[in-house]
Amino acid sequence: MGPASQHRSIHVYAGAAAIAWTAVALLSFVLYARLAHQGVLALAAAQARASFQKDLAYRRWVTARGGVYVPVSERSPPNPHLHAIERDITTPSGRQLTLVNPAYMTRQVLEDERARGGSPGRITSDAPMRPENAPDEWESRAIVKLRSGATEVVEEVDRDHPVLRYMGRLLGEDRCAGCHPDVRPGEVRGGISTQVELPEYFAVADAQIEQVGAAHAIVWALGLIGISGGAVRARRRVGEREREREARDALEQELAHARRLEALGRLAGGVAHDLNNLLSPILGNAELALERLPPGELRQDLEDIREAAERARLLTQQLLAFGRKQVLSVEPIDPSETIEALAPMLRRLVGDAVELRTELAGGLPAVRADRAQLGAALLNLAANARDAMPGGGVLRFATGLEEVGEERAGRVGIAPGPHVSITVSDTGQGIDEATRTRLFEPFFTTKPAGNGLGLASAHGTVRQLGGGIEVESVSGGGATFRVLLPAVAEAPAVRAAPPGPAPRGTETVLLAEDEPSVRRYAASVLSALGYHVLSAEGGEEALRLAGHHVGEIHALVSDLRMPRLGGPELRERLAAQRPGIATVFMTGYAGDSLGPARAAPDGTIVLPKPVTPADLAVAVRRVLDARARATTTPAPGDQPPSAASRSCADSHSA
Ligand code: ADP
Repeated sequence: MGPASQHRSIHVYAGAAAIAWTAVALLSFVLYARLAHQGVLALAAAQARASFQKDLAYRRWVTARGGVYVPVSERSPPNPHLHAIERDITTPSGRQLTLVNPAYMTRQVLEDERARGGSPGRITSDAPMRPENAPDEWESRAIVKLRSGATEVVEEVDRDHPVLRYMGRLLGEDRCAGCHPDVRPGEVRGGISTQVELPEYFAVADAQIEQVGAAHAIVWALGLIGISGGAVRARRRVGEREREREARDALEQELAHARRLEALGRLAGGVAHDLNNLLSPILGNAELALERLPPGELRQDLEDIREAAERARLLTQQLLAFGRKQVLSVEPIDPSETIEALAPMLRRLVGDAVELRTELAGGLPAVRADRAQLGAALLNLAANARDAMPGGGVLRFATGLEEVGEERAGRVGIAPGPHVSITVSDTGQGIDEATRTRLFEPFFTTKPAGNGLGLASAHGTVRQLGGGIEVESVSGGGATFRVLLPAVAEAPAVRAAPPGPAPRGTETVLLAEDEPSVRRYAASVLSALGYHVLSAEGGEEALRLAGHHVGEIHALVSDLRMPRLGGPELRERLAAQRPGIATVFMTGYAGDSLGPARAAPDGTIVLPKPVTPADLAVAVRRVLDARARATTTPAPGDQPPSAASRSCADSHSA
């Protein structure tokens, strides 16, 4: 279910809960009001019943005694309906007394009370002996109910205002028959009716209902607040879950993208390795042939071959960089100084229309990098900036020190801690979102003549150095690429001088290379330089040749990776008889057993393929000279300079 439909469901459920809650609150209130009304009626009925019971008690007392004698007066004349023997008597003092029967007495008591505004009770019967005892309409109906078995009749009636009417039954008793022969004991003779004014009771009940109503309203409102709060929380949870899902999706996509790039990198590295093996003899032999050939048409053909091979070499270099398989000559360098040295080349690259500004911080910590490869990566960034500003603009190079926190480090894919930043920003067209997600993919380009390897190789180089690249850009608002490299405590190494003409020699060099074309090419380069070359097609044959060779072997030039016996193992075995033999290893890529992660043994240089004649000449001379210096004046820590391999890398980026 999508977030929109989840939000809709939350709305529906919250609405339904609010309606149900309102119905419950209303029902509860109505029930309470009804109960309060019924309670009031029950109270009023209890009062009426108590009044009736009291009247009955007096009447019973009088009945038990056969009536009471009272002085004859206007209010109590002799009762003509009473047939008693001694109804009227005269006291010895001559006072006239008359017998008052229970019903008559009750009627008079109630009439007096009514006249005084007290109890509104009244005795009545459906066969009254006196007309004034005749029942009203309600009383007639009540007497009918009493005759049919009811002990009492209670009803709320509305006259001008609500009134509770009550009638309790009067039964004939044994003693009644003495004076009233027609009366049978137990027979319903009529009743005493009374009434209770209800407005007073209702006023009390209404006050309570009001309070309970207010309490209901508060609880109802709290309930509604709870429901809407719950709905808001549920919406927020849905939103959070949605954001978490989006972040997870984005991360998964990034991961899949990174894995795809990784696989592509491996493929590219492998292809570049094999291509390098092929390119070494093509490029080298073309150069050797060019040195020997006089000017002419054939020379032009060879130059074309060399140029094409050179372009192929640059391409394999980029593929290796993307696959993070370059042979890097890593040393501590000062990034500001590297850019300063690069500035003339940058100016030439961007042209006159683009203004190059450098804001280079002094005294920065060093970073461990290959000067030439880092330079090549920065040149790629500059070339892209130039292409993004066809009408001219500003290209800014800035360096600084930044403390990279956990979150940012995770985003860029580097370890947290101090990093030196190299910021390359332009005022060009900027990068849209679609391009941005694919920037570092190999062969992704939006340019008609682009090859899409610039950023892929720059990214690969920086990643291989343990750093990362951040990109900031909005379409139309220029772009900023920030290279972050881990800062190190070491002092920056001094820049080596540029190489001169290829140095020569006459020493004996043992060459071990399993690839026949590379072997032939390297042998002819070394022979042409004046060296005596012992050429072997693998490690084992090289050992054999060395065993049979009576003279000195001054240097070993070997492929790093060979079947059965690889370069480093060969050197180790040779070193048993010839300790510290000067060595140059050639390798297709840094994935070989000896890479920047593993330092080369003292007295060795690692040359990345394809190896140009100049690379080989410089490297062999350097290891031989270093070896000679070490044997004549053993100086501790005298390392062979790595400039040979660097000079070779310089030529890659040039
Ligand atoms: P290429 O330069 O051969 O196209 P890159 O890998 O160097 O290959 O660059 C890939 C794409 O990234 C470019 O085609 C371009 O669309 C985009 N891009 C790179 N840098 C910038 C920049 N500074 N401004 C705008 N777009 C850029």
